[in-house]
Amino acid sequence: MASGSGRVQGKVALVTGAASGLGAESARRLSREGATVILTDRAAEAGEALAEAIVGAGGKAAFFSHDVASEADWERVVAATLERFGRLDVLVNNAGIASSGLQLMTHSLEDWRRVLSVNLDGVFLGLRHGGPAIAQSGGGSVINISSIMGKVGMPGAAAYCASKGGVLMLTKAAALEWAQLKIRVNSIHPGFIDTPMVAGALHQAEDGNMMRDLIISRHALGRLGVSREIADGVVFLASDEASFMTGSELVIDGGYTAQ
Ligand code: NAP
Repeated sequence: MASGSGRVQGKVALVTGAASGLGAESARRLSREGATVILTDRAAEAGEALAEAIVGAGGKAAFFSHDVASEADWERVVAATLERFGRLDVLVNNAGIASSGLQLMTHSLEDWRRVLSVNLDGVFLGLRHGGPAIAQSGGGSVINISSIMGKVGMPGAAAYCASKGGVLMLTKAAALEWAQLKIRVNSIHPGFIDTPMVAGALHQAEDGNMMRDLIISRHALGRLGVSREIADGVVFLASDEASFMTGSELVIDGGYTAQ
């Protein structure tokens, strides 16, 4: 699939939550720029189809079924990556779930744990199991997909905000711990991007159209983002163009947090 300019040529990149939205577009663009891409997701059918499409377009890709909240799954996926491709250079901890509409006064502990287990435990497990594989390969880049909700709050999304704020600080701690190993660790903070996650949340809302207009109005650029705009950030951080960046927060939010 390499039709770009080879910005990540020869690198092996693992993208979680790669069957949909930001993960799918990141996998496509990493492949286009020359990476071998391991797509993982719990949605096996869509993930396999995308991996096949990437291979069909001339890229190198594989799909592994993977629940990021499961440590056993991480062990299996990292081992399979090393067995099949011999190295791991880039890890994109992208899989995540929304928690909109859960009010703190009535929020169940079960819902809280469900969100944290995917959005924060999932990133910790990615670091815990992907980190040694990247170190063994001589260093590389980890990109954690946080959110603007890891930097500013939003009513009705406490668990999501807490999980994404956790990802922000986990990223900085990992960056400092692994600088000597030549592993760069950065977070990306997207504004609202037009993906199935956002479409699903708006669909569930009482007045989805009004919500959409309200959300759009909070972005200075007056629109939702598109997946390509985040995937471009992923490719940049994965590439050697970002060789002096670690522990950074790459905010791509159409001006949402500038106000
Ligand atoms: P999406 O379209 O819903 O895609 C997320 C993918 O992750 C889905 O394929 C989903 O599978 C998968 N996934 C969910 N839980 C998983 C688990 N436990 N293990 C493995 N895969 C799992 O969402 P998106 O909008 O692309 O979001 C991607 C990331 O960006 C998330 O971390 C999200 O929080 C973050 N983000 C998104 C936005 C936005 O506006 N879209 C803004 C800021 C941050 P299922 O379909 O089975 O759930």
